[in-house]
Amino acid sequence: MRKPKIAVVGSSSMDLLVTSERRPLAGETVLGDSFQTVPGGKGANQAVAAAKLGAEVYMIGCVGDDPYGDEILANFNAHGVHTDYVEPVTHAKSGTAHIILAEGDNSIVVVKGANDAVTPAYVNGARDILRESDLVLIQQELPEETVIETARLCGELNVPLLLNPAPAREIPDTLLEQVTYITPNEHEAALMFPGQDLSDVLRRYSTKLFITEGAEGVRYFNGEQEVQVPSFLVDVVDTTGAGDTFNAAFGTAMAEGQTFVESLRFANRAASLSVQGLGAQGGMPTREEVEKGLM
Ligand code: ATP
Repeated sequence: MRKPKIAVVGSSSMDLLVTSERRPLAGETVLGDSFQTVPGGKGANQAVAAAKLGAEVYMIGCVGDDPYGDEILANFNAHGVHTDYVEPVTHAKSGTAHIILAEGDNSIVVVKGANDAVTPAYVNGARDILRESDLVLIQQELPEETVIETARLCGELNVPLLLNPAPAREIPDTLLEQVTYITPNEHEAALMFPGQDLSDVLRRYSTKLFITEGAEGVRYFNGEQEVQVPSFLVDVVDTTGAGDTFNAAFGTAMAEGQTFVESLRFANRAASLSVQGLGAQGGMPTREEVEKGLM
């Protein structure tokens, strides 16, 4: 079978992870227990997930011309993600997430850095690869005008676009019209459609919008009624990156011609496997692992 071709227009960053018994108060210094760097960013996570699931993936994004940028690129290469459209820029540092894990919870400061260089003009520079793609994936860790322009461009090029609206913000109606699929979790759906009944929202955007509901799986309106496609019962280790795996898997399955419902099931299976491993990219399953679980 031909590999589906997927372009990811998205963020890449380095997560700087510190564990500590407690987090410092303002003005205080504490000694931590451990430190590690882990490649992340929703765009990069989805690109790696789709590549592990068997897609030919082209990342469209920016990193800083710095050691973290080098590591991010090396991680893409290690997973077979094409980086011809990942530009190291000199005017900004690589995006970073500064994470303190303490007292059973995390505190995070995100610095977008080079991800802000993914402008509408930058995406237009990659229009050739968008045109050749079976599907484009995008999230919202990029400037809003870039998301809007990518939707316009995908419409012009007649390429399906999946928008994972994370982190959540209110979305212009024209953008909602233009995207092929949009995949909020429950919290994001509530923020996107304040004060509205989510059943009405599902009905209005039937088979375009579906809501992921953690262990419950995913809910959508099939033209006649609301349908729940349940996830798989698993022992949870870490749910970080479940949404990224779900989106990449749904996009990969649709791009290779599986039906809507088959693709949702495939995505549930992939995401349920991902919560059994630590970290966002660390838990992402391979194609073989997902297929074994679907038999
Ligand atoms: P995250 O932010 O943790 O990456 P999310 O909040 O964007 O995820 P969720 O709705 O929590 O998205 O999860 C996405 C998908 O992952 C679900 O639709 C489901 O397929 C799978 N999933 C998440 N949690 C579980 C779980 N505990 N058991 C089985 N599947 C799960």
